[in-house]
Amino acid sequence: ATSFRGRRVAVFGLGGSGLATVRSLVAGGAEATAFDDSEASVAKAKSEGLPVGDLREGDFARFHSLVLAPGVPLTHPKPHWSVELAKAAGVEIIGDIEIFCRERRAVAPGADFVAITGTNGKSTTTALTAHVLREAGRDVQMGGNIGVAILELEPPSNARVHVVECSSYQIDLAPSLDPTVGVMLNLSEDHLERHGTMENYAAIKERLVARSGTAVIGRDDEISVSMAARLKAAGVNVVEISEADSIDLSAARALRGAHNAQNASAVRAVARALGVDDATIEKGFSTFPGLAHRMEEIPTSDGITWINDSKATNADSAEKALASFDKVFWILGGKPKTGGIEALVPFFPRVLRAYLIGEAAEAFSRTLAAHDVPWAILGTIERAVEAASADAKGAIDGAPVVLFSPACASFDQYRNFEQRGEAFRKAVQAVTGG
Ligand code: ADP
Repeated sequence: ATSFRGRRVAVFGLGGSGLATVRSLVAGGAEATAFDDSEASVAKAKSEGLPVGDLREGDFARFHSLVLAPGVPLTHPKPHWSVELAKAAGVEIIGDIEIFCRERRAVAPGADFVAITGTNGKSTTTALTAHVLREAGRDVQMGGNIGVAILELEPPSNARVHVVECSSYQIDLAPSLDPTVGVMLNLSEDHLERHGTMENYAAIKERLVARSGTAVIGRDDEISVSMAARLKAAGVNVVEISEADSIDLSAARALRGAHNAQNASAVRAVARALGVDDATIEKGFSTFPGLAHRMEEIPTSDGITWINDSKATNADSAEKALASFDKVFWILGGKPKTGGIEALVPFFPRVLRAYLIGEAAEAFSRTLAAHDVPWAILGTIERAVEAASADAKGAIDGAPVVLFSPACASFDQYRNFEQRGEAFRKAVQAVTGG
C-alpha cells in the first residue's frame, strides 16, 4: 500500500492479516514496525526479514498510525502500552480494511468494491457474490474476514472488483469505508460481549452502508428496517432485500433454507447494481458450490444425503438447518451453549433419530427423551456416522438425510468447527467407501 509512504506505522498482532499488513506497508514505502506479545509470532516476522519492534519500549506516541489485527480488543491491557494511551497521544487507530480503502482512493477511486456485513450469513453472501461476479466474467478479488487477508489480495484497479467480508470489529477500525455497494444483511444480538450495547453494535454496522454508493439492507428484522429508513431519509441509495423475495432456488443445491433466500436476494441486488443480468445471476446461484461446513452436501453414492453443518455452533444455526428438511437423522452435540437445544423443540417432529456426541450428550438426551425423540449416545462423530448410516440405509426409499448440525461449540473434542467438519467428512467417506 503506497498511501502510507514515509509514515511511521505500528502493526500490532502478527497473525495472517497482521503479517500481510506489514508486508504491504513495507512494500509501499512506509516505515512499518511489527509488534506482538507472542514470541512465536515475533520470530515468524523476523524470519521473513520484517522490521520488529520491542513492546517493552512501549512508545507508540512516535507512530502516526497503529494498525490493530482483528481480534485484538481495544481494551488490550499491557504493562507498557495500551490502545488508549496511543490514542491519547494522537496516534490514529485503524485496521487493514482502512489501509485498503485509502489505497483504493489513491490509485483507483472508481474501482468496484463490495463490502458485506451482518450478524449471520456474511461468509455465504460474500462467497456467493464472488461466484456470481466470476460467472459474469469479472476479475474478482475476495477476502477480508473470509479466507485471504484484504492486503494479500491483488491491489485495487478499475479492471477488478473486490468483494470483502467485514466483521463489526473491522468496520469499527475503517473510518474511510466507502464501498461501491455495501450490504448489511441482518442484525440480531451477538458479539455483544465485544460491542457493549445493541445500539453500539448496530451503529458500527450502519457505518458500512452509510457511505455506500448503493446500500443493500435486509428488511427481515426491525433494527435493519429502521436503519434503511434512516439512510433513505439521509439520501442514501437503499435497496431493501428479504428472504421473502421468493427467488427460485430450486436448482441451487448449496442454498437450501429461508436464510439462504435472504443471502441470495442480497447477492442479486449487488450483482444488479454492478450491471450483471438476471440470467447470469440465476446461473451463478445454481452453480454455487457452497461453503465448506455450512449445510455442505458431501457427495456419496449410497443414496443418502449427507449434510455437514459443523459451523452450526449454536441452537440458532442448527434451527436453520433442521428447518431445511422434512425428516432427518440428526447428529449433534459437542460443548453445549447456554440454553442447550430447548429452542429447537418445535423442530423435533422432523427428527427420526438423534445421535449424540461430546460433552452435551447426557443433557441433550434428557431434552430429546422429554419430547419422545428416539436418541442414542455415541460419543464420537465416527460412531455416530456409523449408526446413522445403518439407520438411513433402512430408510433408503424415503430419500434419507443425515444432518450433522451440532448446535454446540467444538472445543471439547476439536480445535475448531473446521477440524470437526473434516472429521465428519472423513467418517462419512469411511462408511460409504467414498
Ligand atoms: P457468518 O459468516 O456471518 O458467520 P455464514 O455464511 O458462515 O455466516 O453462515 C453461518 C451460519 O449462519 C449458517 O450455517 C446458517 O446456519 C446461518 N445463516 C446463514 N445465513 C443466514 C442469514 N441470512 N440469516 C440467518 N442465519 C443465517
